[in-house]
Amino acid sequence: MATPLQALPHVLGASAMRAQHNRLILNLLWTEREISRADLSRRTGLSRSTVSAIVNDLLSTGLVKEAYAGASTGGRRPIMLEFQDDASFIVGIEIGATHISCVLTDLRCKVRASWSANAPVRDEPQIALDKMVAAVRSVLDADGIQPEQLLAIGVAVPSPVDNSRPGELLPLIVPKWQGYNIATTLEENFSRPVFIDNDANLGALAELWWAAGPAVSNLVYIKVATGIGAGLIIDGRIFRGSAGIAGEIGHTAIDSNGPPCGCGLNGCLTTFVGTNFLLQHAAEYAQEHGTAAPRTLDEFVDAALEGDPRAAELVRYTGERLGIGVANMLNLLNPDTIILGGGITRAGDLLVDAVRSTIEKSSLAASVSNADIRVSALDEWGIAVGAATLVLESALQAPAQFFAAPQGVL
Ligand SMILES: [Zn+2]
Repeated sequence: MATPLQALPHVLGASAMRAQHNRLILNLLWTEREISRADLSRRTGLSRSTVSAIVNDLLSTGLVKEAYAGASTGGRRPIMLEFQDDASFIVGIEIGATHISCVLTDLRCKVRASWSANAPVRDEPQIALDKMVAAVRSVLDADGIQPEQLLAIGVAVPSPVDNSRPGELLPLIVPKWQGYNIATTLEENFSRPVFIDNDANLGALAELWWAAGPAVSNLVYIKVATGIGAGLIIDGRIFRGSAGIAGEIGHTAIDSNGPPCGCGLNGCLTTFVGTNFLLQHAAEYAQEHGTAAPRTLDEFVDAALEGDPRAAELVRYTGERLGIGVANMLNLLNPDTIILGGGITRAGDLLVDAVRSTIEKSSLAASVSNADIRVSALDEWGIAVGAATLVLESALQAPAQFFAAPQGVL
């Protein structure tokens, strides 16, 4: 049975230098999966005795095990050390505007159990919190895991997250959440640390870690759903801005004479490309023509893919408007990659071609020619996996700090 990682504080608390060495070794073990003590020493520049001491500590936590003897380079055959992906587990939760998804993953963010259901998140915070707790219990039970075996719980939320008020959603975006706290609810129920970030940021993080490839270090992930948000990765790290608002492109005005937005402004990008806009326009068209209106975004996208001309036209219109937001991102950040996520992106080229046609008219040629613009390769669990990745990244990047403050919240 896997050993919970709480054993690590003894290991990592010695000094900042020791913590730094631990981080180096742990990261290399995680990345390589299998490596000998001699190679750890060679790759990190640490002495063999330092490596041995750290490895002994890691062996005692269960994070690493000794496996088979590797190939000899002349002397004794080295014992290979193996990182143990199931030494501990992570729960990742995506709280959308109208649904909750939850995954249980190992320490490589591989999904072991999952749960998803519709939930009135925007309007009924207490119901959403109850469902969220039930979701975590469900994925733990499905795999026979106890809360103590969790490294932490990561949560993606449809709101900017201000680090000075962890666990709270921004009232401007979701007014009914005033007074509710996601982090304290989870901590009270599971006694594990909770890490929370914006959903688009965590979509971006999941893309960076699991899909974009090692050459990409600057990317923008744009989540197109009920709201529109962008997650920015700059030099391999999430860029959050001073109060977590960075990337909130859904509320940039693209037409000051446009329809009113829930935020109080007019003609925000969200009012042209959000799910509500699409379903509303599809319903108006259906009423005019005496046909059945799509009830969900999935039905709408299916209609467009099956060749329904009005649905296809609406997807193109959405792509063109979305293109304005993408063009601004390209000119502002000049990323390697722009990834479009959310249910509408199932429309594929129909959407992306319209996005491209707008940006070719609205972006500087140099920023367009270098950028790869594409639909997310992540599956439906991508953002929940991104929430788990936030926990993993924190643990690998700053293990000493992470394990020394097990109740800490980002
Ligand atoms: Zn707005």
